[in-house]
Amino acid sequence: MNRLISGAVAVIMAGSITFPSMAKDNFDYHVDRFADIEVLRYKVPDFEKLTPRQKAFVYYLTEAAIYGRDILWDQNNAANLQLRTVLEKIYTDYKGDRNSKDFKAFEQYLKQVWFGNGIHHHYSTDKFVPGFSRDFFAEQYKAAGFTDKAVLDNLEDVIFNPKRYAKRVNQADGQDLIRTSASNLYDENVTQAEVEAYYASIKDTTDLTPVSYGLNTRVAKVDGKVVEQPYKIGGLYSPAIEKIVENLQKALPYAENDAQKAYTQKLIDYYTTGDLRTFDEYSIMWAEDTASQVDYVNGFIESYGDPLGMTGSWESIVNFKNIPASHRTEVISDNAQWFEDHSPVDKRFKKEKVKGVSAKVITAAMLAGDSYPSTPIGINLPNANWIRAAHGSKSVTIENITQAYDAAAQGNGFNKEFVIDAPTAKLLDDYLFITDNLHTDLHECLGHGSGKLLPGVDPDALKEHGSTLEEARADLFALYYLADPKLVELGLLDNPEAYKAEYYKFMLNGLMTQLMRIEPGKDIEEAHMRNRQLIARWAYEHGKKDNVVELVKRDGKTFVKINDYNALRDLFGQLLAEVQRVRSEGDYEAGRKLVLDYAVKVDPALHNEVLERYSHLDIAPYKGFVNPVYTPVFDSDGNITDVTVSYTEGYTTQHLRYSRDYSPLTK
Ligand code: ZN
Repeated sequence: MNRLISGAVAVIMAGSITFPSMAKDNFDYHVDRFADIEVLRYKVPDFEKLTPRQKAFVYYLTEAAIYGRDILWDQNNAANLQLRTVLEKIYTDYKGDRNSKDFKAFEQYLKQVWFGNGIHHHYSTDKFVPGFSRDFFAEQYKAAGFTDKAVLDNLEDVIFNPKRYAKRVNQADGQDLIRTSASNLYDENVTQAEVEAYYASIKDTTDLTPVSYGLNTRVAKVDGKVVEQPYKIGGLYSPAIEKIVENLQKALPYAENDAQKAYTQKLIDYYTTGDLRTFDEYSIMWAEDTASQVDYVNGFIESYGDPLGMTGSWESIVNFKNIPASHRTEVISDNAQWFEDHSPVDKRFKKEKVKGVSAKVITAAMLAGDSYPSTPIGINLPNANWIRAAHGSKSVTIENITQAYDAAAQGNGFNKEFVIDAPTAKLLDDYLFITDNLHTDLHECLGHGSGKLLPGVDPDALKEHGSTLEEARADLFALYYLADPKLVELGLLDNPEAYKAEYYKFMLNGLMTQLMRIEPGKDIEEAHMRNRQLIARWAYEHGKKDNVVELVKRDGKTFVKINDYNALRDLFGQLLAEVQRVRSEGDYEAGRKLVLDYAVKVDPALHNEVLERYSHLDIAPYKGFVNPVYTPVFDSDGNITDVTVSYTEGYTTQHLRYSRDYSPLTK
């Protein structure tokens, strides 16, 4: 539930004492461009300053990360791995004209499939539409040496039949969300009602420390009975999980301290048994280790891929702490109780004691599974509410990723097209980078960890709207406090007006520019986008009588104009209080109404205008990354003495290499 992804294309710049300067460097961030995607490269600053032992630990963790790739592909759709194998063989074997229309379209499709970790768009979760012909595919299938006609028929249907597997995650109100979602987290025969009845039968609602039901299982119907099939050694995805465990074991001797060794061993135990109690034990130990510099996430974590929000998609992020930048988040965390006490939320819904909100700025060293190629810019884990309440959580901002986004976006024309006037553009130039980072820090360090459920309220009570409302809660907490003089007092901002930069960008994005990610005629589906529109639309509508925010027309173009920033902050505070009430009381009906009234529907005229204006800028709506390549240096006893990092691998090369060398589920 707790990852923050990048807003619409970042609008940036700014040097400041607290933040790394966005000065131009010679690093080439741009790697590839196709369809609606731009692939970038990120730097891993200060990797060379890690000790040889830390580098060795990182190295084996990166291996464990890449080995999980196939798991996510299969979770996303049952046909993905087989299709990938066929597409890649066709791609590498192809003897014809590589500039022909069919081949170019085929290549684009393959690049999209790599980016989506399967046949669905990573963000909209709609199935990709191929630009090549069925005949071309059938011909190349044969030319690549494949002979199985049944496989060909099936893959043709998967690629070309728009009705088959149309959407990976369907959230449409009132439909059977399991039957209409194409992910492989549930058997094709099982219905939403059956799954809900099954979980209702095993959930102990009096348990104050419940496991995360369904987190590491596929639900299937066997002999007429609903059963869970665990992902573990000896269970589903065993060959991949064995490779993950093998590399975690190799990493163990290089752990920085006993605590890190102990939770890594616990993770191995969990992968071995599939026991969710063990996962909780691991999560607690992991959350409590704040001493290690190197850190990692590896497992079935976020449940956005499940229409019911239960099963975790496999992911891994290997990282290490950016010590100077972490000072910023430490200051925020140290003052967590002050922020909780002063929030505009009803006292009944506040935590008397905010515990262990740890926060740091990290440098990503490897992105994998559900965090690759598209990646979050902040994470806040673990997800289990009772663990967060009793043991705290870790919040991180991944600054080398935000830095890469920002550097790659320089001079792309966005501000010129969409920002209302020169003073506002100047405000964004001066303060957006710092306030955007602070927004992420506040969202992750304080927002998700704030507030409490009333006794007896089911944490899943908001059901399919839970993710959207949870993100809204964290964003509103951040927005409310960005404008607070406390931030200047704490030395986090040097100008009490700085917050206006983030307010402007947030309203512009939520009301208008994020629409460039939506196809004409479609609703908003993704939780973070729903959250942003919910907040922006709600504030716009509720501020109308006082003219707080306007949409003004100039030369036929719409611009966001904020007339009263103070009043806007007030509105954010009011909505925060309401969303927290909805969450604390588990008021499903009120939450559903908020989402349906403000977050889903799009003004078609404004939508078309945004798409039109965007199309002239040639900015890819979505961005993702290739990973660096790590090469270990061994001594004569086989111990790692150093690890070097290189930034030269391309997008296609990287995916083909991963499929060739790290694909335990297709062999
Ligand atoms: Zn979040």
